[in-house]
Amino acid sequence: MTLKLFNTLTREKEEFKPLEEGKFTFYSCGQTIYDDLHIGNAKAYTAWDTLTRYLRWKGYTVRHVQNITDVGHLTDDGDQGEDKVEKRAKKLGLEPMELVEDQIERYFEDTKALNVKRQDIVPRATGHINEMIEYVQKIIDNGYAYEVDGNIYFDVEKFAQDYPYGEMANKDLEQLKEEARSRVEPDEKKKNQFDFALWLDAEDSGHLMKWTAKFEIDGELVESVGYPGWHIECSVMSQKYLGDEFDIHAGGKDHIFPHHPNERAQAFAASGEGQARYWLHNEFINVEGEKMSKSEGNFYTVRELLEKDFSGDAIRLYLISTHYRSETNFSIKGLEKAEKELQRVRRTVKKIRDSSISAESPVNYDTSTDEIEKEFRERMDDDLNTPRAKQYLLEVVNHLNSIEGDVKPKYADTLEKLFQVLGVDIRPQASEEESELADLLMELRDEAREEEDWETSDMIRDRLEDLGFEVEDTEEGSKWLK
Ligand code: AMP
Ligand code: ZN
Repeated sequence: MTLKLFNTLTREKEEFKPLEEGKFTFYSCGQTIYDDLHIGNAKAYTAWDTLTRYLRWKGYTVRHVQNITDVGHLTDDGDQGEDKVEKRAKKLGLEPMELVEDQIERYFEDTKALNVKRQDIVPRATGHINEMIEYVQKIIDNGYAYEVDGNIYFDVEKFAQDYPYGEMANKDLEQLKEEARSRVEPDEKKKNQFDFALWLDAEDSGHLMKWTAKFEIDGELVESVGYPGWHIECSVMSQKYLGDEFDIHAGGKDHIFPHHPNERAQAFAASGEGQARYWLHNEFINVEGEKMSKSEGNFYTVRELLEKDFSGDAIRLYLISTHYRSETNFSIKGLEKAEKELQRVRRTVKKIRDSSISAESPVNYDTSTDEIEKEFRERMDDDLNTPRAKQYLLEVVNHLNSIEGDVKPKYADTLEKLFQVLGVDIRPQASEEESELADLLMELRDEAREEEDWETSDMIRDRLEDLGFEVEDTEEGSKWLK
């Protein structure tokens, strides 16, 4: 069986056929970086990380690009309101880029704790302003944009005469036009309210982040000091790093309209290609049936859950326990359950490893490891059905637990490998006492290394390895890993 994925464009599960055999090119919309990662964002990023892990496991070469939005995402969908990054930076008395640096560091700490592999390319919007200006110029040259007072707007009606527009949201033009009229404050400068900004002039505003752009329109040069509209960055950065056409574009379901149709329209308008062939969208996380929001006090950041002593692996296990296209109703009870499941899996793996060392002739259980992998693959091939794949692995764990004799260690290897595909590390973790012992030995080793006593340093490393710790010397210092 081959992988089938639900494509929002066609509203069907389709067989995944990459543009180039054995290669997978993937763009997912990333974080607007003004606050800590919340559990909803984490659902999106773990889903896309699982997709890349799965395809890597299947043997694909993957290029995954996920951007960081550090300019241009406004508090209001209708191109009005404040820039989200600037708004929070002002509140904290920081330069916007000061806030961004801090938040990026926290973002990578949080995603790392959830075993989200850092994407192959993580482009930042502010690093691509020149490319965005050039891209907007292409759209102007191709006749799909107009200028009013230094603002450049995308002409949706004109575009829709040549290309499809509303199909991702499954709506016709009149419906979208009507919705835009009721959704946003009327903007006198726009021809139609569903037109959207490619570039916004900010000469006389209090905006902190702005750049000088020169556009040639009908043979005249227009200079505008401003900033890019929100959607343009993703069209530019995805096509820059993955080509005009690539395999999959993903994001949360809030992007089904307007972000993704607008990105796709820009891409058609600039390059004649509509970016990706498959568009994937994750459902949202709600809390106790309500939309998660700070004002309701039902808002969970990943950081606070980690501080409450939930492990990153348990949070990951919890997140993949619902399908990426199903709503997750978040609860602390659910997270506690995931933590227990994780411990049970770890105990089983440890038991297999411990017993197979002493056993004379460990036995196979009646399902081979190949059969386990096949069953796992079948479930994952069905639109990345992680809850069913996980459920199956837990059944295998229960079965292995119920076996009287000793089991071959390859069952532990298989479980570790398949959970790794789901982004959950089930290898045994060090206990508190073990950690303290390892820390002490590492301190002694660091002292020996400072004195260039390589013999002692190597001896300590060997002893640590005998005890099951891996020692890694990095630029930031030496670390151990159980
Ligand atoms: P943002 O930084 O708000 O643009 O969100 C980053 C990503 O997280 C986007 O792909 C959103 O669609 C997704 N996202 C935001 N809130 C939630 C939520 N409650 N549940 C699932 N995904 C979310
Ligand atoms: Zn995007």
